[in-house]
Amino acid sequence: MSELLLADHTLIDGRFVRDVAVLVGDDGKITAVGPEVSLQVPDGTPRIALSRKALLPGCVNAHNHSFQSLLRGIADDKAFLVWRDQALYRYAPRLGREGTYVGALFAFGEMLLRGVTTVCDFFYLHDDSNDGAEAVIRAARDVGIRLTLARTMYDWDGAPKLFRESVADATRRTRELHAAYRDHPLVRVVPAPHSPHAASSEMVVAGAALAEELDTFFHMHVAEERFEVEETLANYGQTPVRWLESLGVLSPRACLVHCCHVDPGEVALMGEQGVNLLYNPNSNMFLGDGITPLTELLEVGVRVALGTDGGCSNNRVSVFDEMRAAALLQKVRHQNGTALGAEAVFEMGTRNGALLTGWDAGIIAPGRLADLITVDLDDLSTLPHLDLLKNVVYSMESTALSDVMVGGRWVVQGGILQTMSTREIGRRVAEITRDWTVAGS
Ligand SMILES: [Zn+2]
Repeated sequence: MSELLLADHTLIDGRFVRDVAVLVGDDGKITAVGPEVSLQVPDGTPRIALSRKALLPGCVNAHNHSFQSLLRGIADDKAFLVWRDQALYRYAPRLGREGTYVGALFAFGEMLLRGVTTVCDFFYLHDDSNDGAEAVIRAARDVGIRLTLARTMYDWDGAPKLFRESVADATRRTRELHAAYRDHPLVRVVPAPHSPHAASSEMVVAGAALAEELDTFFHMHVAEERFEVEETLANYGQTPVRWLESLGVLSPRACLVHCCHVDPGEVALMGEQGVNLLYNPNSNMFLGDGITPLTELLEVGVRVALGTDGGCSNNRVSVFDEMRAAALLQKVRHQNGTALGAEAVFEMGTRNGALLTGWDAGIIAPGRLADLITVDLDDLSTLPHLDLLKNVVYSMESTALSDVMVGGRWVVQGGILQTMSTREIGRRVAEITRDWTVAGS
C-alpha cells in the first residue's frame, strides 16, 4: 500500500531538510520526494504525519554472523583463539536447524529495533547442505529484515565439520542458493570464501570466479588477527592481501572484512584494485584484534561499509554504535579530532552498506528502496537540534529510535517489533541455551 510520509526533518543528500514529503509506492520503493504541494499523490493515499520525528535511511549491517548472538556472554574477555574454541567451536555444532533459525530471529529482531534495515549474514553452519542457510532466510522473512546471505565457502580441516565442504560442493550449493533467490525482493545470496586461514587457494579462486559468474560481490575475512598474517607468510610466503593479489582475486567485487593488519603496500594495492572494506570497529576492539588503518584506506579510494560482526564479539548489534566507534577510534589513533567525521561514518553505515550488500537503498531519493527509520526528536539524546546528523552519530541512544520500515512495510512502530513478539523470541532463546555454560566454568 502506498503512503505519504511527512516528518519534521528528512535526511536528503546528507542534510536534514524541514517539511519534505516522501511518497512510498506499492512496490516498496520511494516514488517521489519534495514539498507536499509539488508531489503528484494518487487519490486515497494515506498521509502519515510523523510529527516530532526525523526520517532517515535505515542502517545496513554489512557483516554479521546471526547465530553468534546466542553465544553472547559465553567467552567474553578471552584471547581470540580461546574465544573461537570456547564459544564458536563448542556451541555451533549443537544448534541444528532450529537453533540456527532462533539465533537469526534473535539477531535480526534486535537489529531492527536498533534501526538496521538490511543485514549481511556471513553464514557457515552448512552441515553439507543449504538447510541452515534456508533457516536463516526464513527467519529474515518472518521478522521482516532485508538480507544478503554471504554463503561461506570453507575448507580448513581445523574447524568443526559442519563448516567444511569441498570446493566443488561449496561452489555448487552457493550457485543453487543464489539461483533460488535471484529475483526475491528481500533476499540476495553472494559467495564468501571464509578467509586466508580457513579457505584454500582453490576455494578463494572459486569464490571470486563465482562472483564474476553471478555478477555479485564476494565477501571474505582478511587479516583480522596477527596470527593470520604469520600463517599466510609461513604457508604462502606472502602477507594476506598480497597473497590474494597473487591469486588474481582482488577487484571491485571483493569486499574484505576487517583488514586490521595490512601494511602500507597492501593499502596501496587495495586502492589500485578498487576493493572494498567491511569494517567492524567494535568487534575489533572487543577481541583485541587491532586497529584498521581506515583513514589511509579512505585516502586511496577504498569504499567502506560498517558491520557489527557476531553478537558474541561486540556484543551489540547497532550500526549507529559502529559509526561512533569508527570515528572515535581514528581520532584517538591519530590523536587528531578531525581525523574522521560524523558525515563520513554515517554514509558508511547507510549508503555504502547498501551498495556493498547489493541493494539500491541507503538514501532517501526517488527509485530507492523504502528502507527507512524514524527518530524521536523529543528524546533527550538527540538534543539540541543544532546539527542533528552529528547528534545521530555521537549522542543518540537507541531510546530515540521509533519506527522502522523495510521495503514499504512498517516492521517496528513506536519502538515495538510488529512482526513477532520479542518475549516469544526470548523464550525460544532461553530454551536453546538452557544447558549452556560460560567458558572456563
Ligand atoms: Zn566475521
